[in-house]
Amino acid sequence: MNRKSILTLAIATVLVVMAAQPMMAYTLLSPRRTWPTTPVTVLVYNQGNNTISDSDGGVTAVVGAIRAWGIINSASSPAPAVRGAAPATIMLGDNGHICNGSCLAATLTGYYTGSTITDADVYTNTKTKLYSSREADGCSAEYDIDGIMTHEVGHVIGLGHSSVAGATMYPSVSACNTGPRSLEADDIAGKNDLY
Ligand SMILES: [Zn+2]
Repeated sequence: MNRKSILTLAIATVLVVMAAQPMMAYTLLSPRRTWPTTPVTVLVYNQGNNTISDSDGGVTAVVGAIRAWGIINSASSPAPAVRGAAPATIMLGDNGHICNGSCLAATLTGYYTGSTITDADVYTNTKTKLYSSREADGCSAEYDIDGIMTHEVGHVIGLGHSSVAGATMYPSVSACNTGPRSLEADDIAGKNDLY
């Protein structure tokens, strides 16, 4: 079975540490940090992904999907991500030179001051075949952008990975699996821990 990682580069060292002390649930980014206010604005750059065959390369689908978290103010944006400067921006058609190989998407989570997140931008592996909830032709050996970006926005708001299989924040997903679109109890517990 094809499984690919929904990778967050900035927490790679956190995962190594946790391997020695298994967690049974959600994790938070370390150090613990949150956006100063909610809702958190997350924009989707309006140049979509050319493997997604809906009307706008997945932009509208992702704007809708990430609202699953309940604390997200999302919209399409004509402006690309500016690293280190809010708002958090999702780039569907740009790998940012940080997401290749088995990486599906990656969030830069290194922008924070003390316990306050100041920015987080998301990049997408442009070599992956993706599909969205707004595609008419369904899924065939493709990866679900709605679920992938719901996962990444979990990192944007301060969550790490979960060891709970089926949770949105589980670190990998198989082709045509749309499960990460919907939050599980573990994901919600993580969000409620932070906000
Ligand atoms: Zn991740």
